[in-house]
Amino acid sequence: MSQVVPITVARGDGIGPEIMDATLFILKEAGARLAIEEIEIGEKVYLRGNTAGIEKEAIESLLRTKVFLKAPITTPQGGGFKSLNVTTRKLLGLYANVRPCVAYDPFIPTKHPGMDVVIVRENEEDLYAGIEYFHTPDQVQCLKVITYGGCRRIVRYAFEYAVRNNRKKVTCFTKDNIMKLTDGLFHRVFDEIGAEYPQIEKEHWIVDIGAAKLADTPGAFDVIVMPNLYGDILSDVAAQIAGSVGLAGSANIGREYAMFEAIHGSAPRRAGQNLANPSGLLMGAVMMLVHIGQPEVAERVHNAWLKTIEDGIHTYDVAKEGKNPYTKQQVGTREFAQAVVERLGQKPQQLKAVSYAAAPQNVQKDEPPPPAAKRELAGVDVFIHHPPEDPNRVGAMMQAVAGDGLELVMISNRGTKVFPDPLPATLLCDTWRCRFQPKAGAAVTPRQILSLLERCVGAGIEVVKTEHLYTYDGKPGYSLGQGQ
Ligand code: NAD
Repeated sequence: MSQVVPITVARGDGIGPEIMDATLFILKEAGARLAIEEIEIGEKVYLRGNTAGIEKEAIESLLRTKVFLKAPITTPQGGGFKSLNVTTRKLLGLYANVRPCVAYDPFIPTKHPGMDVVIVRENEEDLYAGIEYFHTPDQVQCLKVITYGGCRRIVRYAFEYAVRNNRKKVTCFTKDNIMKLTDGLFHRVFDEIGAEYPQIEKEHWIVDIGAAKLADTPGAFDVIVMPNLYGDILSDVAAQIAGSVGLAGSANIGREYAMFEAIHGSAPRRAGQNLANPSGLLMGAVMMLVHIGQPEVAERVHNAWLKTIEDGIHTYDVAKEGKNPYTKQQVGTREFAQAVVERLGQKPQQLKAVSYAAAPQNVQKDEPPPPAAKRELAGVDVFIHHPPEDPNRVGAMMQAVAGDGLELVMISNRGTKVFPDPLPATLLCDTWRCRFQPKAGAAVTPRQILSLLERCVGAGIEVVKTEHLYTYDGKPGYSLGQGQ
């Protein structure tokens, strides 16, 4: 039997304290071996003038225990408050978000009986890196950051999750038919790591049609791994169509630290009335118990909870104002927790009982560095601020600064090639991307690029950014303009 495990607990705002009390009561009665450190986060901390919503002592507790059970918080209205979830995720390096989306038919109404999908979402990179620029009055950019190491970590996590939880298939969603380099890397790493798991079925879907299939036929999926933005959207879709937004828990996992919570918010209108459903947080806590090496307690809690749902003991949100024919008794938060405790040791008869095996604390292997390749500087994209006008005139202006071994290869505007050979229908903005490369086969030096920029400045051209172009083993590490 494992030791008592220190964890950090935050009761949060709104319904948070009630659902946390109910959850901790069930865990204690089920025999969880926890040493709880409590911290304060959220609204009160924000309103004391701390824009992060969390104080230094609280962070110290998280760094000490490495395990965080968090109730939902209220983010105060008005600007200037940083998202506590983003702060915690970045502070603790929580790279994986895991959200099981399960239907509990017929006891909880759902359009998709039998749905049982786990979304594994990359949590740190992609468009959520938070790197955005208004380069010119007309054009703003958000950088989509995908790393080889980041892809390996999340894809590894998804496959290890599948193995440990007896799942049969891992599906990858990307949009690599359009984003060939960023999403292409994610897909490539999925194939690479997937090959290490011959016992698991693997498939890849383009995210748009995959999302449509998920919403229509979730039974076609088991574990789905995806980059941050798609995962953010589709984990909500999946939880909603399972019929269980109020019932789903989520785990945020890092190399050393982990955070567990409900997916719903603090529901302030329901606060303090003994109404809220504690199930989402309880399911988060079940994942925590598996994570800290107390799978037998996780199993007791989860099965008792399934039996409670099956016995028709429901909070208001599941009872649906008398419209759920399977509700036998509508209860409050405390009574629901009591009903779960009374069923500890029992298993559901109709819903599928769960079983949890001891999980290794950390599935993270040391991933290899990106594959070695010959990397060569092959040119530069110079982005300039210049009003929309005849692309041939912009072309002539930029050709005048070419030279010293660098030629103007093409100009694009809003991603569409407009020089040479502009098309009349292309709508133009005030940012132009001008690609300079040497004649085929010649090498480029950083100094050539510096000289080019100096010539731009000398000619009164306003450069707003540059992107160096590299080849890897001779293949372009940059997207080509059409027709290039
Ligand atoms: P919400 O999830 O709090 O509520 C949405 C709806 O679901 C409401 O009708 C609510 O009554 C109901 N609901 C939610 N949880 C319930 C439960 N356990 N039992 C019964 N009913 C439940 O979303 P919201 O109203 O958009 O947000 C309220 C606050 O929560 C906001 O300040 C938001 O920023 C915050 N929030 C926090 C988190 C978090 O801490 N992880 C997540 C989402 C929202």
